[in-house]
Amino acid sequence: MNKKGILIVVSGFSGSGKGTLMKKLLSRYPDTYALSISATTRSPREGEEHGREYFFISKDEFEKMIAKDELIEYARYVENYYGTPRKYVEQKLDEGKDVILEIEIQGALKVKKAFPDTLLLFVTPPSATELKKRLVGRGTETMDVIKSRLDRACEEAEGMDSYDYLIVNDDLDTCVEEMHEIVRGEHHRSFRNEAFMKKIKEDLERLKGEN
Ligand code: ADP
Ligand code: 5GP
Repeated sequence: MNKKGILIVVSGFSGSGKGTLMKKLLSRYPDTYALSISATTRSPREGEEHGREYFFISKDEFEKMIAKDELIEYARYVENYYGTPRKYVEQKLDEGKDVILEIEIQGALKVKKAFPDTLLLFVTPPSATELKKRLVGRGTETMDVIKSRLDRACEEAEGMDSYDYLIVNDDLDTCVEEMHEIVRGEHHRSFRNEAFMKKIKEDLERLKGEN
């Protein structure tokens, strides 16, 4: 079956648990997935490291990357730029890894347009109340920023139906396994296995000729 990796976009409201989910998925299946590290102009949160959560760069540096076409996509999100560096993604897909981009909806739709085989996944908490609870509980943003992220979530909810699958992050372990199963299933989609289908058709024709 197909050996090339699948490009997977994971979006979801800020605070839905995407980061937590990705960390667990990658630690459980390190040989299957590669997580793209984005560039951003926002400041690091406590505990975040340059080159691990993000490449934290200046607006000037970000604009240079745009000019040199070094980003697959980029978007502005609540006053900052975020973008996906091209090189790493292409290299890992060629190595056969399923590459995950954890990006917001504008970026997701741009990636889907440029690469129509992209699998789009949307992570949501079980309820809006739980979302607020997680954002407040994370304790990394002021109430003002939390409010703008909740407002943004209202807009993002309008785009949920552009995604291929919804993943409800209620129990974390269940959620990890559900996402992994979706990706495994995706590898079996016929359009991802054209080389395999071509080969088996040719072999069947050859067998028919021999009889
Ligand atoms: P995101 O990356 O989507 O902004 P995070 O991964 O930072 O979200 O998670 C937001 C908060 O919710 C964190 O404090 C995290 O520990 C918590 N969280 C994540 N997943 C779950 C879950 N399944 N159940 C309860 N809390 C969760
Ligand atoms: P945060 O500041 O909470 O880390 O991220 C804010 C939002 O930016 C999240 O929705 C996250 O998914 C999104 N994001 C992170 N990296 C990228 C990127 O490279 N491109 C785009 N378009 N969005 C991104």
